[in-house]
Amino acid sequence: MSVTERSEQSNTVTEEQARAVAEEARESSWDKPSFGKELFLGRFRLDLIHPHPTPEPEAEATARAFLTRLREFCARLDGAVIERDARIPDEWVEGFAALGCFGIKIPVEYGGLGLSQVAYNRALMLAGSVHPSIGALLSAHQSIGVPEPLKLAGTEEQKREFLPRCAKGAVSAFLLTEPDVGSDPARMASTAIPAEDGYVLDGVKLWTTNGVVAELLVVMARVPESDGHRGGISAFVVEADSPGITVERRNSFMGLRGIENGVTRLHRVHVPARNLIGREGEGLKIALTTLNAGRLAIPAACAAAGKWALKIAREWSAERVQWGRPVGRHAAVAGKVSFVAATTFALESVLELSGRLADQGRHDIRIEAALAKLWASEQAALIADELVQIRGGRGYETAESLAARGERAVPAEQLVRDVRINRIFEGSSEIMRLLVAREAVDAHLAAVGDLADPRAAQMPLGRKARAAAKASGFYARWLPRLVTGRGRLPAAFREFGPLATHLRYVERASRKLARSTFYGMARWQAGLEKRQCFLGRLVDIGAELFAMSAACVRAEALDESARELADVFCRQARLRVARLFDSLWANTDDADSQLAAATLEGRYSWLEAGVLDQSEGTGPWIADWRAGASSERNVARRYLSPSRA
Ligand SMILES: Cc1cc2nc3c(=O)[nH]c(=O)nc-3n(C[C@H](O)[C@H](O)[C@H](O)COP(=O)(O)OP(=O)(O)OC[C@H]3O[C@@H](n4cnc5c(N)ncnc54)[C@H](O)[C@@H]3O)c2cc1C
Repeated sequence: MSVTERSEQSNTVTEEQARAVAEEARESSWDKPSFGKELFLGRFRLDLIHPHPTPEPEAEATARAFLTRLREFCARLDGAVIERDARIPDEWVEGFAALGCFGIKIPVEYGGLGLSQVAYNRALMLAGSVHPSIGALLSAHQSIGVPEPLKLAGTEEQKREFLPRCAKGAVSAFLLTEPDVGSDPARMASTAIPAEDGYVLDGVKLWTTNGVVAELLVVMARVPESDGHRGGISAFVVEADSPGITVERRNSFMGLRGIENGVTRLHRVHVPARNLIGREGEGLKIALTTLNAGRLAIPAACAAAGKWALKIAREWSAERVQWGRPVGRHAAVAGKVSFVAATTFALESVLELSGRLADQGRHDIRIEAALAKLWASEQAALIADELVQIRGGRGYETAESLAARGERAVPAEQLVRDVRINRIFEGSSEIMRLLVAREAVDAHLAAVGDLADPRAAQMPLGRKARAAAKASGFYARWLPRLVTGRGRLPAAFREFGPLATHLRYVERASRKLARSTFYGMARWQAGLEKRQCFLGRLVDIGAELFAMSAACVRAEALDESARELADVFCRQARLRVARLFDSLWANTDDADSQLAAATLEGRYSWLEAGVLDQSEGTGPWIADWRAGASSERNVARRYLSPSRA
């Protein structure tokens, strides 16, 4: 099939086909225990996360020494330089490379530092607090770039060839997105056609973080099915200077001004067969599995945002006096300061817990990591917004302008711009909710079998009756267990002191969550998957319960001040959970769907009169993305001299 045919065909991908591709990439088995999965099934398995997992003392000491060196280096850098010049200075990148920051999690035998996920998260927080673009550079390289997929699915030969280069600072990038492929990889148009000794890659990749400066790429492309080739979306390691690769543009964004994010065109790029990662057709599965821990880079960025916002909120709102008292002592501002402090404690607790579970390797953390990504990115955006409000007019003013007037250069508005992307990339919040909901209702789907099939209406009666009998058996055993549990016992979780009440709540809410999922299943059956808002609320409840559990478990291992933070955080979270439970059944979902449909059909376009849309006529919504030779200048550049020499 030609590239043009493929690109035309991708426009006709149906919802069912899109779902089938996502389903194929999903890990269907659960070989290890999962706190998150149990939580959605109404089983609060505190034993899986408590006592707070502790790292090996020796590994902790090595990590501490590295973080001290990193801190000393970062303290000499001024993030305002990146904000002003919209790039990370080359010599800084050299410095990070010399410290080993491009191989933090790469095993020592392959030239890396061999540190843990927890240490990596802490390094991202530290470096990202100079400027979040540095965090993005390091994490796009290590969390989704070449090192992680190779550690996971690479051959020994691939690891020996590429990991030492990555560790030294050969920057890597991950190329999945295309102009027509965002949340839906089934539309992928890039192709990898089998050829002598390898594959020939064609396609256009959009928004490749590090793509402009990368030395190595992970490219996702579709291999057509043919004799001897099972085909499917596959992952390749590609040398970024291969003939036929053109970085046509460096994109600029609302925030993350220093990232080197590009549009990369591949035209007849030859890739040796030995550079295929895993097997043909496994590309998406490898990408998704990589993201299980890879996603934790985003909660790290969010926890760092919370910590910095807390420091500014504390110092500023104690100092700024209006109406006779520091603004932080007015109840309306105090509520915001409390939210920032309590949520920051929970953000770090979620990050630490998820990181430690990842390091232990004994748990399946795909739900925890997805919840952490979703919840942290949503909360950090709220924190940043509240910080701007706490700072008043100065919150809206740029750091440069503040400094020019002789005031402290606090980039609060920059924080809003920088954290906003976390809700969009590496799985948008909407997609994360679908992903977690899919896992949360998995037990139900397995139990009700054919009843959950959208084609159930056309099924023979006998088959439907068999499915109904199987479902009844499952629910007859499962539902009674959701009626009562430890959360009802006044003395349960006593060892947590004043936090015990919150853990009892989590236990009760976890059962209610599972019951609510069942009611949804009973009410909508196959139609449940279309109830995205209902499912999204279930997931958001699960995320709050996970954050509460993480906060209590961590506080218990710390001191009184941590318990105060955890207590107020849990009280705030409980109010959010109560609202979410209420809105499961009392909402405007149906009315919203109708209104949205009518809006899309133009029924209310009269409402748009009276303003101008200056974007109209400036270009199509989606640029022409056909594969072919490039007619653009190659804007690729390197931070460091190539490491192959
Ligand atoms: C700064 C930046 C850096 C990036 N870095 C990389 C990178 O390094 N590598 C890479 O491959 N990609 C990268 N991306 C791409 C990023 O991962 C995508 O933007 C993201 O996956 C969303 O895709 P989209 O923008 O095409 O949104 P779309 O898929 O067009 O979605 C538009 C909206 O619809 C929602 N939506 C879509 N499908 C559904 C559904 N089924 N149900 C409910 N809601 C839905 C989305 O959540 C979103 O709100 C980057 C993007 C940016 C902006």
